[in-house]
Amino acid sequence: MAVTFGNADLHTHTTASDGMQPPAENVRLAKTAGLAAVAITDHDTVAGVEEAAREGERIGITVVPGVEISTVADGHDIHILGYYTDNEDKKWLERLAGLRGTRDRRNEMIVDKLRELGIPISMDDVLAAARDSGKSPGHAKDGSVGRPHIAEALIRQGYAADMKEAFDRYLASGAAAYVNPPRVHPFEAIEWIKEAGGTCVIAHPGLYDDDRLVEELILHGAQGIEVFHSDHGEEEEERYARLASKHGLIVTGGSDFHGIRHGQIFHGAIGSRTVPDEVLRQLNAR
Ligand code: AMP
Ligand code: ZN
Ligand code: FE
Ligand code: FE
Repeated sequence: MAVTFGNADLHTHTTASDGMQPPAENVRLAKTAGLAAVAITDHDTVAGVEEAAREGERIGITVVPGVEISTVADGHDIHILGYYTDNEDKKWLERLAGLRGTRDRRNEMIVDKLRELGIPISMDDVLAAARDSGKSPGHAKDGSVGRPHIAEALIRQGYAADMKEAFDRYLASGAAAYVNPPRVHPFEAIEWIKEAGGTCVIAHPGLYDDDRLVEELILHGAQGIEVFHSDHGEEEEERYARLASKHGLIVTGGSDFHGIRHGQIFHGAIGSRTVPDEVLRQLNAR
């Protein structure tokens, strides 16, 4: 294996979930940004990993196989990142497919609630919006659909001017069409990732406003924590770096790149948050 010294962006989304760029494009953007490695961490799917890995081999940059699992604890959305899972493991793939089923039903509940509010959009409109914002037919089967695609449908039909308005008015936690039915608990996601041979990391802990829960996740076996994230301020980086050192956790970071929607980069450009690629060894210790 080639010895590389450089930076790694360990959190990016692609058209396999709600990102705007196909997996290979994220890899090229990472190369252009001068990174040594980039992870593909789509919501509840590993469908983008293979294409990214192939592109990585072709252009000479390390691709880290990842996933970001949506879980709910006490009604709060908690995201758990998984790295280096065995994506040939049937049980693991079935579990992810189950999560996408729950997600699809959640999406339908949101669409129903929008209809109750007098906004006649359908799941077909949402899927069309997903397709037109770059989701390739290849990802229609095992990719995931999410709220940004519903937002896109709302924008297209004139019910919101932009993503911010679509989320603020309808889709954000507590907004008019928000629903959050029970999902897998973060403890379970941690176990699933480990059972699939991977390493589990608490995603963007600063967004939960609940450090007690974050400590519980650590006590329950989380192996790493995403200290550096586009939505973290300096104070949060310092706080979670201290927590990581207290518990001996792997320190990760990433941009949470979703591409550009309506002229805005979500959440940050590839390479805008990184950790030394030395961290890859810690994540791939098995
Ligand atoms: P979902 O996984 O379907 O619940 O959708 C969550 C995704 O929606 C996140 O990963 C973000 O990409 C996006 N998102 C959440 N809140 C906002 C917001 N206020 N504005 C724009 N995008 C958002
Ligand atoms: Zn997303
Ligand atoms: Fe997330
Ligand atoms: Fe993310």
